[in-house]
Amino acid sequence: MLDKLREECAIIGTSLKCEEAAGVVYNGLLALQHRGQEGAGIALSYNQSIVLEKDVGLVNEVLTEKVLAKLPKAKTAIGHARYSTTGSNTIKNVQPFLTEYLTGRIATAHNGNITNAKQVRSMLEKEGLDFSATSDSEVISSLIAFNIISCKNLLKGVIEASKILCGAFSLVLMTGDKKLVAVRDPHGFRPLCIGKNEYGIAVASESCALDSCGFDFVRDVIPGEVIIIENGEIIHSSVELVAKKQGLCIFEYVYFARPDSVIDNLSVYEARFNMGRMLAKEHPIDADVVCGVPDSGLEAAMGYAYESGLPLVSGFVKNRYIGRSFIYPSQLQREHAVKIKLNPLRANIEGKSIVLVDDSIVRGTTSAKIISSLRSINAKQVHMRISSPPFRHTCHFGTDIDNEQNLIANQISIEEICKRIGADSLGFISVEGLKEACNKCSLPFCTGCFNNDYGTDCVEMSKFQLEE
Ligand code: 5GP
Ligand code: MG
Repeated sequence: MLDKLREECAIIGTSLKCEEAAGVVYNGLLALQHRGQEGAGIALSYNQSIVLEKDVGLVNEVLTEKVLAKLPKAKTAIGHARYSTTGSNTIKNVQPFLTEYLTGRIATAHNGNITNAKQVRSMLEKEGLDFSATSDSEVISSLIAFNIISCKNLLKGVIEASKILCGAFSLVLMTGDKKLVAVRDPHGFRPLCIGKNEYGIAVASESCALDSCGFDFVRDVIPGEVIIIENGEIIHSSVELVAKKQGLCIFEYVYFARPDSVIDNLSVYEARFNMGRMLAKEHPIDADVVCGVPDSGLEAAMGYAYESGLPLVSGFVKNRYIGRSFIYPSQLQREHAVKIKLNPLRANIEGKSIVLVDDSIVRGTTSAKIISSLRSINAKQVHMRISSPPFRHTCHFGTDIDNEQNLIANQISIEEICKRIGADSLGFISVEGLKEACNKCSLPFCTGCFNNDYGTDCVEMSKFQLEE
């Protein structure tokens, strides 16, 4: 049985003229950690084979000094950091996936969500292939290996396999003989970019990883493009897959990506700042100060303050040292848990009327807790402003939304949400306003989670898969 996975992950791959691939992938994954904190892994091409190291945990918990010291010196490597919904986080689903086939091995790292994974998996099972994980990414790896054998050619095999896949896939894969392949699905749902330096090439989910590993940004991978890299050089690139409609997930700019990344020609920071400005135009309010919810609401708060002329202040101090292992020891402490992670700054809040900016309301629990923590130190008024439109529909392509019933905006009206979270007023950016804030992006957007407009026929396949 395949789990109903929604994965928002980080991928990176590098092909170098020197044997420093492990270091590049490790540093790159650290820069991409925000995209997934549940599992991490690295695969290195070594001695005509592939060495794999992966486990559940953060990048530096999995790739410890001891583990890194054991890794072979390699010119080519790929890595993955995984985000998953609860229940599916077993070691079996951690990537990269290693697939062995008659004439070799490939390792694959995937970001996105394949909507026809179930059908592809049954097709491959009929051909006699076995599966050990419950993730759609394992299906991709096997499908590619299967097609490499039947086409007797790496490029043709990757292209034929990619044509069968439906949904979101940004991929890096590596062969035992040091070839690195990068693929972006024809819709361009998930980001993928290429960097270069004197030692070779790196491909990563976000440009912040290229920056931190010393690669100059070259360009984004084009939707539908297949690239092969060997010995630090691009040896092939062509656009092989065409979609009826392209659409980058606009939520990459709202929440997923790091503000110092540039995706498809638009700076994530600039996009968020513009969202804040747009919010101030669409939902102005007379207040004393503006503050953002750390971390993903901060840039939109700056934009709101800039546009409205209201002073921007820090509303909270975030404890940076709480790991994922943080536990709530007693009922008393559980009730104050939000303040352990995010303590409101009394000097800026007490007696003030506040515009509180955050990136999204999904289930509504976060906003309710944060507003009640502001009330507990006597905020006079709290006006909530959200830099994404109401989240009403499920995402078929990689966001963590298991069920529409859990989306508060799918269930109740904006006025009711305002009451439920305890705000004095509530304003969401409009879909048009959000698109306008992101208008420097070179791709059109998928805004399906906001307005049900996915602009692709992949959705029907997904419904079929989920209902079965
Ligand atoms: P909720 O309304 O479900 O309590 O949470 C909203 C908060 O979750 C927002 O502050 C936002 O920053 C964060 N968020 C939005 N989308 C996602 C997601 O896909 N994954 C995770 N881990 N957090 C998210
Ligand atoms: Mg948040």
